[in-house]
Amino acid sequence: MNESLGATGLILNEKLLWEKGRKGRSGFSQPQRDVPVSPLPVELLGNGPDFPELSEVDVVRHYTRLSTWNFGVDTGMYPLGSCTMKYNPKTNERQAALRGLASGHPLLPESLCQGALELMVELERFLAEITGMDAVSLQPAAGAHGELTGMLVIHAHFKKNGDSRSKIIIPDTAHGTNPASAALCGYRPVPAASGPDGILEPASIAALMDAQTAGIMITNPNTLGLFETHIREIADVIHAKGGLVYADGANMNAVMGIADMGRIGVDVLHLNLHKTFSTPHGGGGPGAGPVCVTRKLAPFLPVPRIITREDGRYTLSEDFPDTIGKLLAFHGHFGVLVRAFSYILSMGAEGLTTASQLAVLNANYLKEKLKTTFHLAYDRPCMHECVFSDQKQQSAGISTLDIAKRLMDYGYHPPTIYFPLVVHGALMIEPTETESMEDLDQFVDALKQIASEPADVLKTAPIRTKVRRMDETAAARKPCLTG
Ligand SMILES: *Cc1c(COP(=O)(O)O)cnc(C)c1O
Repeated sequence: MNESLGATGLILNEKLLWEKGRKGRSGFSQPQRDVPVSPLPVELLGNGPDFPELSEVDVVRHYTRLSTWNFGVDTGMYPLGSCTMKYNPKTNERQAALRGLASGHPLLPESLCQGALELMVELERFLAEITGMDAVSLQPAAGAHGELTGMLVIHAHFKKNGDSRSKIIIPDTAHGTNPASAALCGYRPVPAASGPDGILEPASIAALMDAQTAGIMITNPNTLGLFETHIREIADVIHAKGGLVYADGANMNAVMGIADMGRIGVDVLHLNLHKTFSTPHGGGGPGAGPVCVTRKLAPFLPVPRIITREDGRYTLSEDFPDTIGKLLAFHGHFGVLVRAFSYILSMGAEGLTTASQLAVLNANYLKEKLKTTFHLAYDRPCMHECVFSDQKQQSAGISTLDIAKRLMDYGYHPPTIYFPLVVHGALMIEPTETESMEDLDQFVDALKQIASEPADVLKTAPIRTKVRRMDETAAARKPCLTG
């Protein structure tokens, strides 16, 4: 590549739309007017916004150029552990864009939206089946919102029984949002340490559980990518003292069709449709965090709930006296629900199970291929993700951050780093089921190559990205949102 030409090109191109505009330039022409001019009242127009005046080609190039500064699953592998950045089948986008579904208004009378209501009822049924739970609310807008909803349900259950428990057990391998959601609900998180093999031991939970504790909030698979194999015993310990088991099922993509969370003893669980069920994740777009509960907790779910009437028609009902109320305007993010519905139908039960099996196979493949190069925090079979650390690189002065930055030069989005906190210098890699063996091999080669590079190369990385290594604190505290 000709560096100097490339650089000049960038500088010329980087002018903002406002700088590129020229008075009177335009990207369209209107048809000839055949009626008299009737200017809009000044009160309506004001002075008008100061929009730049540009040709079509200026605008198209501006936005197309901006799009090339982005990295996404449509550009390359995005192995961000605990976040499931997978390629989602485009057919589900098409279904979500169908006019009848995309342009339905939430205030439509029930007689005109029976199809949408049926889709939601069916999706609730599918999600109940997949998780092994009894009742589902599709209302929450994201994973953490689902956690809050689930915790409010737990709180309402105890309140109804006149039981004022104030604490909740949260393992050190839980997702970071778990203690925050519990605290928002007024519960005091009680930390529980995972055992030497990265999973919880029933005895240590038994030591923490008492009559003031509402239960446990357990991420399963946990953030080390490990399945909590003692969860059934742990659930028994919690239930024996009158507590409830909340499971964070955001990463259900590891266990669909394999683990039945209801039979495992889970009382409340949320899903992330924008991780496992085909809504593109990231960029702050809409998500959905449905909450699934056992029969005894169903009366507390948010309203409105969809009821199937005797004549087979669907209706929305607020008539649930024990409900925690409403957590979102209308009925949740419908477009996300359509994608999940379409994904589940197009995959079928077998397809979903295969997706989980492949997600687990891919993560274990990476784990085995890379464990001689990077320190593997817990050397045992993993689920959808595996966690390495920079322990072997530290003596050369190389850190997890350097490895992550250098990966960008190889065309990869970095994995999740420095999380979970129980692994010092963690590199948490989640390949997802959608990567082929060839792509995984290439990723392994890139990481092995990086591990053999001298420290100064890694310290100056990335060199091929538009923005080089930046001051991350300043970027967060004083963001430049216009340049
Ligand atoms: C992503 C994730 C969450 C939070 O989901 P959001 O939609 O980002 O709020 C919670 N728990 C786990 C395990 C997750 O991976």
